[in-house]
Amino acid sequence: MGKGPAEQGLGLGPADLVTKWPGIGHTRSQELENMGVRTFEDLLGLWPRRHEDRSVITPLRMLQDGEMATVQGEIYQVRYDAGKKILRVQIMEGMDSLTAIFFHAAWIRRQFREGYVAVLSGKVEKRGKQPNMVHPEFQVLAAGERPVLGLVPIYPLSGSLKQNFLQRLMREVVPRFAPQLPDPLPESIREREGLANRSLAIVHQHFPPNWLSWEESRKRLVFDEFLRMALSVLIMHQTDPNAPGMVQNPDGPLVKKFLDSLPFPLTPGQIHVWKEIKEDLKSANPMARLLQGDVGSGKTIIAILTMLAAVDAGFQAAFMAPTELLAEQQWLVLQNFLHPLGINTAFLAGKDRSAGEYRTALKEGTIPIVVGTQALIADRVEFKRLGVVVVDEQHRFGVKQRARLSQKGEYPDMLVMTATPIPRTLALTVYGDLQVSRIVGLPPGRKLVETVHLTHRERRIAYEKVMTTVKQGDQAYVVCPLVGGDEEDTQVKAAVDLAEGMKKVPGWRIGLLHGKMPSKEKTLVMDQFRRKALDVLVATTIIEVGVDVPSATVIVIEEADRFGLAQLHQLRGRVGRGDKAATCFLIADPKTDQARERLEAMVRHQDGFKLAEEDLKLRGPGEVLGMRQHGLTGFQLANPLKDLDLLKRARMTARDIIQKDPQLMSSEHQLLRQWVRDALEEGIPAQVLH
Ligand code: ADP
Ligand code: MG
Repeated sequence: MGKGPAEQGLGLGPADLVTKWPGIGHTRSQELENMGVRTFEDLLGLWPRRHEDRSVITPLRMLQDGEMATVQGEIYQVRYDAGKKILRVQIMEGMDSLTAIFFHAAWIRRQFREGYVAVLSGKVEKRGKQPNMVHPEFQVLAAGERPVLGLVPIYPLSGSLKQNFLQRLMREVVPRFAPQLPDPLPESIREREGLANRSLAIVHQHFPPNWLSWEESRKRLVFDEFLRMALSVLIMHQTDPNAPGMVQNPDGPLVKKFLDSLPFPLTPGQIHVWKEIKEDLKSANPMARLLQGDVGSGKTIIAILTMLAAVDAGFQAAFMAPTELLAEQQWLVLQNFLHPLGINTAFLAGKDRSAGEYRTALKEGTIPIVVGTQALIADRVEFKRLGVVVVDEQHRFGVKQRARLSQKGEYPDMLVMTATPIPRTLALTVYGDLQVSRIVGLPPGRKLVETVHLTHRERRIAYEKVMTTVKQGDQAYVVCPLVGGDEEDTQVKAAVDLAEGMKKVPGWRIGLLHGKMPSKEKTLVMDQFRRKALDVLVATTIIEVGVDVPSATVIVIEEADRFGLAQLHQLRGRVGRGDKAATCFLIADPKTDQARERLEAMVRHQDGFKLAEEDLKLRGPGEVLGMRQHGLTGFQLANPLKDLDLLKRARMTARDIIQKDPQLMSSEHQLLRQWVRDALEEGIPAQVLH
């Protein structure tokens, strides 16, 4: 056999490229790279998706229909039906036999050689006497080779990479390189927290001797993921403790004037959070507050109050929204409120022609309030004295971006607004030391948005309702589906087609809005819709957040089963913003139970927090409401909602560490420091942070 990989791999370290391993050529290394693996260390972090319990080999004659089992036998016959592309492998154990069936898998054929021993794991199908397994996991043993039993790791695959290949590779690589990895966690902390040694944890994550050690291993590794993120966030948010924050004036004349000018009283929920925010604004400590409030709860008013407190104190304020369209909409809303008070506002979203003028005005301090997109954090934007930063619908923004904006002033007060409810501990960990306020309740007079699920055959009902709504002088949205493939492109096409079709029907004026339109056009359409020069807006999910047109009372969501709950809730939030009854039609023939349950949840619940709970039950954390937008997909093993306890411990540990050693300069923290630096520069938490 020549030199085995074991000898050839001598002298390699975890940081070496996997291409140095015998048997990893160009194709395999490409495929590994597609899964983020370049070095052996990366490979160690390619965690199994699950483990299969093969601790017991079941005799063929004992197999029960429907059970999961591992069996062993001699390969007796290999038959390939080239026409049907079906491979049948029969194994024998004494007088008993079992057939493994593989569809469209000609490549497997060569791996089965008659006379060799095969170990198969899969679901038993027993029709009649002969048991089958369709697409079992398999190992064909070389002479003298022993089967991998126990808890067998099942890895994620890419391209033509084979499970068998990876399992074999890992069996060589993991025990060799894992012990070479240093443990960044100081011994004292490891002991205090009762955590496993990291190298051992890595080995056991791949090859646990039993479930208990797998659980222990997972605990350690999840703790590490959280700790790394918590440290990164803390370090990034570090402000000079001696830096003077700004004292705003939340009882100033503009704030008073604005409150008097409002056509409605604040809701109790708004009053409550404004009180909390006021305290922060009055203090010299920089404010960092997360404002949670369901769609339509009136967060914008709170944002305006906060910004006016800055203006009253002689500072400037910036309002940042996730998309240009939204920034523009918010600008219009703000202008409506602020113009009557004699306050000028600027708009900055990139290539605008007026941008140059606005830039100068912001620098000279002649314009007190600016609304914009990420363009606001572009380096060219300078402020005379930035006192308050409001970030709307923060789930589209990362920590990093916010940190950069706040660096433009001398630690301005920061208000981050979101409609996505996330647990407090999670918010704290992801966003650093934020205080959390929550607007409870909606403005009075809000009618519930009647939510109706229609099948495709019933969709007429929705469009008839749109028609009558238009006749009454109200307006409607139609949201086009994501259809897979290049999501935005296909959605745009669907929207264009639908709008064209609807334009042919007399009786309504149809507008079209999607992300690929030039921004001038978008503004124009939005403007026409707002002025009621259009009756129906056919749009992509571009209208998901923030768009506020109170006379729109119907929203039709096509192929609603393709959207997540969070998105559906946000979309529904586009209607029912005035005092008229509103309706949301969800058009879908759901194909899975989950999709059906999502639609039912939408019909049943109006409250975003309730929906979040429901979402948690349906999907399990990870995919939950806005988690992806929050960037929390960056975790490999951690499940931020289920592992909340570990998250808390990691966060406390991070705080301890940073308190003692703010810059991680001490020698026992060097590995942690490196960890955080890597995290901030690239790698997993970079995803978390963007
Ligand atoms: P969101 O929290 O989703 O950003 P908005 O701030 O856009 O909600 O407010 C939704 C609508 O409710 C807006 O039309 C706003 O003018 C209105 N609104 C806000 N506060 C009140 C209030 N206290 N009473 C009545 N209407 C309000
Ligand atoms: Mg809003």
